[in-house]
Amino acid sequence: MAEQFRPPVVTILGHVDHGKTTLLDFIRKSSVAVKEHGGITQHIGAYQVLHDNKLITFIDTPGHAAFEKMRSRGANVADIAVLVVAIDDGIMPQTDEAIKHIQNAGGAYGTKVPLIVAVNKIDLPGIDKNVALLKIKKQLADRKINPEEYGGDVPVIPLSAKTGEGVEKLLEMILLVAEMNELKGDPSLPAAGVVIEATLDKFKGSVATILVKNGTLKKGDQIMVGGVKGKIRGMFDYNHKPLESAGPSTPVEVLGLEGVPAVGAVLGELPEIKKAEAVQSLVDKLKQGDTKTLKVVIKADKQGSLEAIEESLGKFNEEQKVVDFVLSATGDIGEENIKLAATVGAIVIGFNVKVATNAQKLAENEHVLIRTYNIIYELLDDVEEVVNTLLEVGQLEEVLGKANIIAEFPHGKTEKIAGCRMTEGTIAKGQKIRIVREGVVVGEVKLKSLKKVKEEVNKVEKGNDCGMLFDPPVDFAIGDTVESFRVI
Ligand code: GDP
Repeated sequence: MAEQFRPPVVTILGHVDHGKTTLLDFIRKSSVAVKEHGGITQHIGAYQVLHDNKLITFIDTPGHAAFEKMRSRGANVADIAVLVVAIDDGIMPQTDEAIKHIQNAGGAYGTKVPLIVAVNKIDLPGIDKNVALLKIKKQLADRKINPEEYGGDVPVIPLSAKTGEGVEKLLEMILLVAEMNELKGDPSLPAAGVVIEATLDKFKGSVATILVKNGTLKKGDQIMVGGVKGKIRGMFDYNHKPLESAGPSTPVEVLGLEGVPAVGAVLGELPEIKKAEAVQSLVDKLKQGDTKTLKVVIKADKQGSLEAIEESLGKFNEEQKVVDFVLSATGDIGEENIKLAATVGAIVIGFNVKVATNAQKLAENEHVLIRTYNIIYELLDDVEEVVNTLLEVGQLEEVLGKANIIAEFPHGKTEKIAGCRMTEGTIAKGQKIRIVREGVVVGEVKLKSLKKVKEEVNKVEKGNDCGMLFDPPVDFAIGDTVESFRVI
């Protein structure tokens, strides 16, 4: 099945008391789709309405915190943002905050989210509407949000969420913007989606509202979302009507997860287009680099995943060869993979696979870096970071341990001992060590002495306190971080 039009997913933002909830309620209550199903029986954090025979999905969780959470996961949930501004108040602090969110939405991955401004409460008496509207448009223009009347591309719709005047115009505009943005989905793909709400119910167990962004989610599917797995035992729409399957832009309540996933957790792979955008931004960065390559061994659960990863990472190579695929194969990470990686100096990336115990041990001995993922975006993010480091620094490092310097003691005439608390990994004699102050390296040293209480030791682990004597004797300060690292 090919791509086809999918309903726009709309989120409503704005200052407190400007009427977000009232607007969402008005749209829901006046919706044909809702009336046909006998009204809302349960709130699931999103709903759909039918306008002009076309569906619109509204995210019914106003509040910037949730939006921000989703955004920070790279999950660009909304296709269109509606910014509500009360006509009597104009732009207020949280309106500005919302504008910032909207302008950043999509973050590293997406494009700007199209915006529609709804100027609410036009029913209020004693307000000169024209003057107030003009003032708000000017305020918007000052923030680089250019209303259509000013030659910009942002529609401004005056309305009243209380009387409903103008609400139809808003719905029409949403559909128009959706059409212009050619929102597409492919129901034949496996589901990709985002968790918009999740709780633990006393009787039902884990209850998650997932917005299917692309593909189709089916009852009985085995899913993995934000590290939580499960089999879909039950699936319901926003009217709590049982569903067998849900296609692109459908919000569904899902039962059967083994835990409660985080808001913003991603199910499956996000739509291809987003992936392409993510990769594009990496390619742009790489264009400025020189000819270093990152050798990788990739292991994934399925041929399909492998192809998607290779394709994504392969885009790095358009301008120059940056990522060198030494091996890509399905199955868990085994000893032979580590041997290969050690021989050629590659890192090992696993997607939805396990690392065999003997392979883990061998990797530690051979100093081979293994990273495993079950979210493609995290994989891409990490590879971006690694590739960028490679291009900037010319080498890759792995931090092996970290400690905070919490005290200092004089030692001999000129030296001083750093009293440290280990916070991560291990630090051992013989490793490369550096002292970091507010993100800046103040010195690279070796350990001349390492003591746990009074006893000289070779290594210390997370949770231990210890005393370190550095060579050369750098002038460290309390609050600095000690890091041990190795060059890969
Ligand atoms: P939110 O904090 O943005 O969700 O705002 P609410 O929807 O809770 O609305 C805040 C207050 O404004 C409530 O008392 C609403 O009844 C009122 N309100 C919302 N929309 C309108 C409107 O269009 N006209 C008038 N007169 N009052 C409204």
